[in-house]
This record gives sequence, C-alpha cells and structure tokens, in this order.
Amino acid sequence: MKTQQFVVIGLGRFGSSLALELMDLGYEVLGVDRNEEVVEEWSDRLTHAVVADATDEEVLKSLGVRNFDCGIVAIGDDIQMSILSTILLKDLGIKTVVAKAISVLHGRALEKLGVDRVIFPERDMGVRVAHQLVTPNLLDYIELSKEYSIVELRVPDCLNGKNVGDLNPRARFGCSIVAIHRESGVIIAPTAMDHLTQGDIMVLIGAKKNIEEFEAIIN
Ligand code: ADP
Repeated sequence: MKTQQFVVIGLGRFGSSLALELMDLGYEVLGVDRNEEVVEEWSDRLTHAVVADATDEEVLKSLGVRNFDCGIVAIGDDIQMSILSTILLKDLGIKTVVAKAISVLHGRALEKLGVDRVIFPERDMGVRVAHQLVTPNLLDYIELSKEYSIVELRVPDCLNGKNVGDLNPRARFGCSIVAIHRESGVIIAPTAMDHLTQGDIMVLIGAKKNIEEFEAIIN
C-alpha cells in the first residue's frame, strides 16, 4: 500500500469510479455516503466505506477525516451538501481538498472556499469527446491552460516509418512529441532518430493552434 490516504465524500458515479481507481493505484480510500445501499455496493472494494452525513462535523471528526492527505467532495447534484461538506473538510484541516462542480457558479463558490482543485467532469468530458469526434486519430485531449494542451494521436499510415527528425513538429509546427507509446514499450522524450510506426501512439504538447495545424496535415 502507498502512504497517501484519500477520503471520498459521495459515492455516486463520479465518486465511486474515482475511489476504485485510487484503490487500483494502490492507495487507501475511505468512502463516505449517506445512502446505506450505495455504501453496501462499494464496501467490499474500498479500504473502508461508511454510512455518514458528510455535513455532520462530529461524524467527520469521529472518522478521523482530518488525518487524510486528500479529501474529494464528489457530491454534485446537491450543491448545498457539496458546499457544506467542503467547508467542513477545509475547517478540519485536510491538506488537499478537491471538489466536483456541476456548474460554473458552483465552481466559483468552491473556489471561494479555497479548494485546491475544482473538477467539472461533465464539461471536461464534453470538451474531450468533441475533440475526438473531429480528429479521427485523436485518442485523448488534455487542456493544460487556455492556450496549451497535451494530445495523444494514433500514428497514421502517412507517417509510417518516418523519423521524428523528418517530421520535426517542433520546428514546423511549434509542438513537441514528448513520448511514443507502442506495444513493446514507451519511448520518453524521443530523439530525432526514433521512428514512428503506424498504430503507435504519440503524445504531443504545445499551443492548441499549433497542435491543430499538425493534426490537419496527418488527417
Ligand atoms: P454523480 O453524478 O457522480 O452520480 P451525485 O451527486 O448524483 O453524483 O451523487 C452523489 C452521492 O453523494 C450520492 O450517492 C449521495 O447519496 C451522496 N451524498 C449526498 N449528500 C451527502 C451527504 N451530505 N453526506 C454523504 N453523502 C452524500
């Protein structure tokens, strides 16, 4: 087991999948939900799962929530509950608090409470899927900021056998290949001599408009 410990408040679709992934990654996870059936559903697969109201300060104290490294408020639909439990996690002094927002205003309220990170799962997934739909070779898209992103692109037939140096995306388009992923392994920071094979996955970083120019020539 890794040392970092997480408490996930709300085991709905988002909270449960986040909690399970953290478990798979080898971390300890306490799941909290006020719904007994929900807790029963996940109790076998988390380190601990308890039925509790996360807006009850005494309950959170008795669960030792303040000793966790990171708290994730995964309640979305009930904004009041989300905000109240976020306030309690912050007041209890958890080092890192992450919260899910379902709207821009909800996100702004959470930011004002001083959470370390606000997540907009539906909005972010919508953006990613839109990019995947218009760029056939695009496997994943991560927005780093308004201007920059990281993308995973499948190497198309037209680039088969080319060297990174031949392609030279940094000089031609201002974006860099930071990794090439293929069945035999991952090449991190490939050199000009590394070649691309159809079906490899290349990871590019750069300004969005530069990446779009690069995508346009390979599609
Ligand atoms: P998703 O859209 O990810 O499924 P929901 O907002 O529908 O998220 O689900 C949130 C979960 O949070 C539900 O399982 C609900 O029982 C739980 N929940 C809501 N309020 C509280 C609370 N005060 N304390 C603990 N759990 C709560």
